[in-house]
Amino acid sequence: MADPAMKHQVCIQCVMDTSDPVIDFDSQGVCNHCRSFTSRVSQTWFPGPEGRPRLDRIVETISAAGKGKDYDCVLGLSGGIDSSYMAIKIKELGLRPLVVHVDAGWNSEVAVANIERVVRHCGYDLHTHVVDWEDMRELQLAYLRSGISNQDVPQDHIFFASLYHFAISHDIRFILSGGNIASEGIMAETWHEGSAMDSINLKAIHRKFGQRPLRSYRTISFWQYYVLYPLVRKMRTVRPLNYMPYDKAKAAAELREVIGWRDYGRKHGESLFTKVFQNDYLVRKYGYDKRKPHLSSLIASGQLSRAEALEQLSRPLYEPEELEIDLDYFCKKLRITRADYEGFVTGPKSSYYDFPNWEGHYRALKRIQRAVERIRGRPVNVYS
Ligand SMILES: [Zn+2]
Repeated sequence: MADPAMKHQVCIQCVMDTSDPVIDFDSQGVCNHCRSFTSRVSQTWFPGPEGRPRLDRIVETISAAGKGKDYDCVLGLSGGIDSSYMAIKIKELGLRPLVVHVDAGWNSEVAVANIERVVRHCGYDLHTHVVDWEDMRELQLAYLRSGISNQDVPQDHIFFASLYHFAISHDIRFILSGGNIASEGIMAETWHEGSAMDSINLKAIHRKFGQRPLRSYRTISFWQYYVLYPLVRKMRTVRPLNYMPYDKAKAAAELREVIGWRDYGRKHGESLFTKVFQNDYLVRKYGYDKRKPHLSSLIASGQLSRAEALEQLSRPLYEPEELEIDLDYFCKKLRITRADYEGFVTGPKSSYYDFPNWEGHYRALKRIQRAVERIRGRPVNVYS
């Protein structure tokens, strides 16, 4: 954990600082994230001309697997810039996705309008999975009571679990994700401990802090996530944005011009829960400002100057009037008082590791994988 005596220091290349408790700096003042960025992404990020033949090969594989079927892949669409841009690019590549949107109850109007525009422009079919609101509320309140730092888990888990279950039940092997190195290449690992997919952890937190059973919130199990879906059913997640030049500002401009897409103004403004959680709760309770890894990713991937990033960081996370409006909505929707919310922000913190989790299962699986690799003499291709 963070050494309270550690003095505040900012990386001289990016804008990560000592609010990341395990950051370290070399003698020049360059942080570990910057030092390892290139080596970490060299096998997964191909923004130059070398990306196109790789992407073409992936598209061929996906098309071949989908021959004779209505769809060759499932595309998860939130209405944000990453997934919207990916959706129009893969149209140009000739893929035939079924677009799936998971509605966890916190969509902004802008997000809904963006989803409609993308789907109409591309002529895609859209399946919207609406999460039972009482389940969502029950689980989000359990997480708020727990004081854990990653309050986005209930939304993130159901989003990916629904995509995976949906693809498997429709016999579609490929999932397209808007996740990408260019805007997420630098992360502070300690800020979101564990995996949002860890259903053992999710259920343990709900058992301890929940008030009633969940009705229809469908989690994904360790067995499904690591073994059944990727190894037996051969499901794969593909991140097309990692194989093309992806500059967020240019992508937003193109989306605005081509389909009338609208910006949120704030990262993750597509979910009002995430907006309040990241821009108020997380900063006040934990001192984590998610803009720092995001802006640092843009600097590392050559999209933004450090001076511009520092300028953006100097602006407030929230204008007071906007925060009031959003908090009012947030509390009304969760049926809590403002005092309840303040209690969550100022109450005890807790860690992913305070609750049962699937890390032990994961280590055991890795041991089995290494043993199988030794016997077969070649790597086992597992879930990315
Ligand atoms: Zn750095």
